[in-house]
Amino acid sequence: MTDARPASLLTVDLAALVANWRNLAARVAPAKCAGVVKADGYGLGAGPVGRALYRAGCRHFFVARLNEGLELRDYVGEDASVCVLDGLGPDEAPLFRRRDLTPSLNDLGEIEAWANAARAAGEKLKANLHFDTGMSRLGISPRDTERLIADPSILSALDVRFVMSHLVSSEEPDNPINAEQLQRFRRIRAAFPKAAASFANSSGVFLGADYAFDLARPGCAVYGINPTPGRPNPVRTVARMEARILQVREIDHPQTVGYGATWQASRATKVATIACGYADGWLRSLSGRGAAYVGEKRVPFLGRVSMDLITLDVSDVPEAVPGRMVELLGSRMTVDEVADIAGTNGYEVLTRLGKRFARSYLEPAA
Ligand SMILES: *Cc1c(COP(=O)(O)O)cnc(C)c1O
Repeated sequence: MTDARPASLLTVDLAALVANWRNLAARVAPAKCAGVVKADGYGLGAGPVGRALYRAGCRHFFVARLNEGLELRDYVGEDASVCVLDGLGPDEAPLFRRRDLTPSLNDLGEIEAWANAARAAGEKLKANLHFDTGMSRLGISPRDTERLIADPSILSALDVRFVMSHLVSSEEPDNPINAEQLQRFRRIRAAFPKAAASFANSSGVFLGADYAFDLARPGCAVYGINPTPGRPNPVRTVARMEARILQVREIDHPQTVGYGATWQASRATKVATIACGYADGWLRSLSGRGAAYVGEKRVPFLGRVSMDLITLDVSDVPEAVPGRMVELLGSRMTVDEVADIAGTNGYEVLTRLGKRFARSYLEPAA
């Protein structure tokens, strides 16, 4: 953070983040609770997030990419496991070993490559096995799963810590696919009795104790996204985004606002222009639909969201003056509501947050 009065500011409440993680950890106990910090900690900063979770007692971390794992290693202790969900790429085994990263092995080829590295090193290497129980995305295919179950000696060079799988529709508790995946996963788990098991993501934590196994892997709920859509949010707001009012002007019919003249005044209107746009992650699909808060007052977006600027209707809001910060994301304008209006999900809203606003991290009390 360089400027004293930033034009836009993202505040990440790490105390709320830690409280959310503890809330989820308590729900799955006696199972353990991991932290999923892929995509730069869902856009909020994998370093500060990882360090805060580690200090709170989290000892299992998941990232997507190898480079995310390499970066995270510096923020968490040596006693924490860092698992790379992408798996083991060609020629990556030495890097995984050097930085003590655990690959989530996603097919027989990766298993063989990691087993070869283990034999060459003369030691058993840690691995997690990710089984595809319905996603058809990443993970050991049903056919290869049967080969492994029939011949577990394929794994003899490895120290398999977790067998894992990922739920397709866990945010829909009534969707029968949850129970189908659970049944498939139970059968796989029974075939590898020495490994621990990890299944539930955030919403999976709320599907009941059957889904907890030995390690839950929540991501979104740690960051404040509601893991139980349609029901009250059990977790706290973590991200707050504010932008400054740069200018306020009075317009009247027939003046239009913004690119494409998509909004036209039908009466005297006061317009505030704020320092935030789609380059900051405020999706263009919020044009004419989004809203912000000036203090307690909700003000609608007018016209199009542009790259650097958004225009607001502040006609009845005398406190909307240049220099004032407005809230675009926070406890009033929740990430879930922004997502809903934009036609996406909270994950995309957070991971699209831009890089040019100032960031402030509120540290949890020691
Ligand atoms: C992203 C991810 C998670 C976390 O999911 P949330 O819905 O954010 O809780 C868990 N496991 C895997 C394999 C993932 O890719």
